[in-house]
Amino acid sequence: MNKDDTIAAIATPAGMGGVGVIRVSGSEALAIAEQITAKKLTPRYAHYAHFQDKSGNIIDQGVVIYFNAPHSYTGEEVIEFQGHGGVYVLHNVLQTILSHGARPARPGEFTERAFLNGKLDLLQAEAVADLIQSRSQSASMAALRALSGQFSALIERLQASVIELRVYVEAALDFSEEDIDFLSDGKVKAQLTKLLEQVNQTLKKAHYGKLLNEGVRVVLVGEPNVGKSSLMNRLLGHDRAIVTEQAGTTRDTLQETLTIHGIPVQLTDTAGLRETDNIVEREGIERAKIALAKADLALWLRDGNKLSETRPDSLSQVDFIEVHNKADLFTRPARQSSPALVISAKTGQGIDELIAAIAERITDKHDEEGVFSARERHIQALLQTQTHIQTAYRFIQTLATAELVAEELRLAQQSLSEITGAYYSDDLLGAIFSSFCVGK
Ligand code: GDP
Repeated sequence: MNKDDTIAAIATPAGMGGVGVIRVSGSEALAIAEQITAKKLTPRYAHYAHFQDKSGNIIDQGVVIYFNAPHSYTGEEVIEFQGHGGVYVLHNVLQTILSHGARPARPGEFTERAFLNGKLDLLQAEAVADLIQSRSQSASMAALRALSGQFSALIERLQASVIELRVYVEAALDFSEEDIDFLSDGKVKAQLTKLLEQVNQTLKKAHYGKLLNEGVRVVLVGEPNVGKSSLMNRLLGHDRAIVTEQAGTTRDTLQETLTIHGIPVQLTDTAGLRETDNIVEREGIERAKIALAKADLALWLRDGNKLSETRPDSLSQVDFIEVHNKADLFTRPARQSSPALVISAKTGQGIDELIAAIAERITDKHDEEGVFSARERHIQALLQTQTHIQTAYRFIQTLATAELVAEELRLAQQSLSEITGAYYSDDLLGAIFSSFCVGK
């Protein structure tokens, strides 16, 4: 597909609405709009116009705005038709635009063009999608911070420090006999330590940003009949799971999303983790183990009146909170020394404390101040940067050559530039923009 094509798409959601927006971008956008509106369009001016098809039939009326290149979202000539938000009326206007030579835009193609024309870096482009898809107030604020360039600025500062150090080390290559002295003067080591600290702080923020973006996976585990489904319902505040008197009836995993302290939490209720001969139940238990392996946090629920079972092996790999349920049936007070939280899924006792404990576990390692949305891709690139800096540090300790240190710094710089997209592959762009909606 040619990047010079003029593209068009309905930018507002499908369905009925007060207003529907169609966006057109590319060199033919203005000519197409002037034919459809039969008007001479002034940049950045809201024109009221009738929209007509090729045969001269009026198909809608509304506002048209022309954003002249490069002062537009994509950096190209852009037209926005703001007509009535009906499925057919928007379809008719779009078809007319296409009949004048535009082609339908692929998902995310407007933002991809904005990136290719230097209007946004890759981090900001991803933040556009994150903002649209954000599932909590904190997540949308974090996406806005990334969109406004706060994450990019942090990466650029890191990059500038790496480049500065690289220049210093590469200078040693010109005086090769002296390079050992040069590297062991302590300055490079001190700079590398500082850099590593900056990368670690950025990684911490990126981890939290990813949590806000993608949510946290919390899994409910425990023997059958201890009250997992009841707790899930209590947490969600409505009856989603089926609660029964008979042990072992939650056979599959059930998933729901709730928000705890601004973080989207995907809560999975699993089948009981007991040994069984029942094939269907065994399948459920296998799924529970898989869910547990992917979990960020588990809630190990036990019947506080029984407490005979031992801790399931599968919990050894995951952060968990032990919870004793059915407090309303306790015949003697819970032991004060026990680290477990005591609740009653039936009466709601201890639920606020449980939610606070979950919030503490999922947020304690993070500093919410100024957090921006982030993705696994950014974390991986930061981890690579970290490794290159650590290797450079080791090379200095073992008195290796300046060449090796310089090479690690070059690789660290490259990993950082992948984050903002100064260095990218077409595959990466494809993977990022294909997850966008059409019209964005
Ligand atoms: P699961 O098999 O672990 O999902 O357990 P359920 O949520 O299906 O609960 C099993 C039984 O225990 C049901 O009869 C629930 O009503 C009951 N139950 C669950 N939580 C409580 C509680 O806090 N107090 C009392 N008294 N009964 C509970």
